[in-house]
Amino acid sequence: MSLPARMSSKQAGIPAAVVGILAAAGLYTAYSYTQPSNKVFGGGLAGGLKLQTSEAVNHNTKRLRFSFPRPDAETGLTYVSSVLTASWPKGSFTPVLRPYTPVSNVENPGFIDLLVKKYPEGKASTHIHSLKPGDSLFFAFPIKAYTWEPNRYEHITLIAGGAGITPLYQLIQGILNNPADKTKMTLVFGVNTEDDILLRDEFESYQKQFPDRFKIVYTVSSNSIENTSPEFRNGRVTKELLKELLPPSSSGDTKVFLCGPPAMEDALTGKKRGESGILGELGYSKDQVFKF
Ligand SMILES: Cc1cc2nc3c(=O)[nH]c(=O)nc-3n(C[C@H](O)[C@H](O)[C@H](O)COP(=O)(O)OP(=O)(O)OC[C@H]3O[C@@H](n4cnc5c(N)ncnc54)[C@H](O)[C@@H]3O)c2cc1C
Repeated sequence: MSLPARMSSKQAGIPAAVVGILAAAGLYTAYSYTQPSNKVFGGGLAGGLKLQTSEAVNHNTKRLRFSFPRPDAETGLTYVSSVLTASWPKGSFTPVLRPYTPVSNVENPGFIDLLVKKYPEGKASTHIHSLKPGDSLFFAFPIKAYTWEPNRYEHITLIAGGAGITPLYQLIQGILNNPADKTKMTLVFGVNTEDDILLRDEFESYQKQFPDRFKIVYTVSSNSIENTSPEFRNGRVTKELLKELLPPSSSGDTKVFLCGPPAMEDALTGKKRGESGILGELGYSKDQVFKF
């Protein structure tokens, strides 16, 4: 975004700080296209990345592929990381900063895929959904959420709600794509309707490939569920369901990773100080639960 020629930021009524941010964004965009570094998220600002494809995966979510300036450029990301984006929705001079978690294999060069759920009135998600192939989105820097250590736990439980699946999917990929990592996993994926199950093909493929190590249970909260297969349950993520699926908290070789809407996280870990939520009632200590 540039100001009209010969018009100063003061004349245009734009705060100097915003002009500074825009100038820095522009410079770093140019920088990212000229630097020899082969890691897009390797340090400094990543810059503008071009949207290659944008595909609706259900009624409110799109999968968007952003290509790197060079096809052999690496992501520079490690498990589990998100990337901070800056959007300038129409009419907005101040950037809207929002993190998103790549769902493409972070070890693949050339691009990243984001899975973005659109919220009604959501500033960044509405802007990102409006992008067309060839448009650019500005990426600031990576945010490291968790450093995964292969074989640290014998078994882990992953509990996701809706679009909260993305960091858990990145972790699942990191584990199952590494032949040296033998960690077993149970994924409990809570959704409103069956249509809201994201990455279903990817999960089914992993289940076929790793039947002894990767178990998945979908729990659908609307009453409309028709699927009668054993991995489908009705309702929310409840204490009874987790009691059935989780290994005992006393087996020290286990951990729970959680990412979902605030109401779900509150129910599972407690809302107020001192409350332990469902996981606490099942004997899981705070150290045994990681919230993305
Ligand atoms: C580390 C991290 C990783 C993330 N990764 C992803 C990802 O891979 N994919 C993805 O789609 N999102 C992801 N998010 C969420 C994302 O960063 C934004 O918060 C989301 O896209 C909404 O931003 P917005 O500007 O569109 O909405 P806003 O303008 O901030 O909010 C608009 C409305 O939507 C509601 N709303 C906003 N966010 C949520 C929410 N999470 N749950 C329920 N209601 C909400 C608000 O209450 C408000 O009413 C991640 C968040 C974090 C912290």
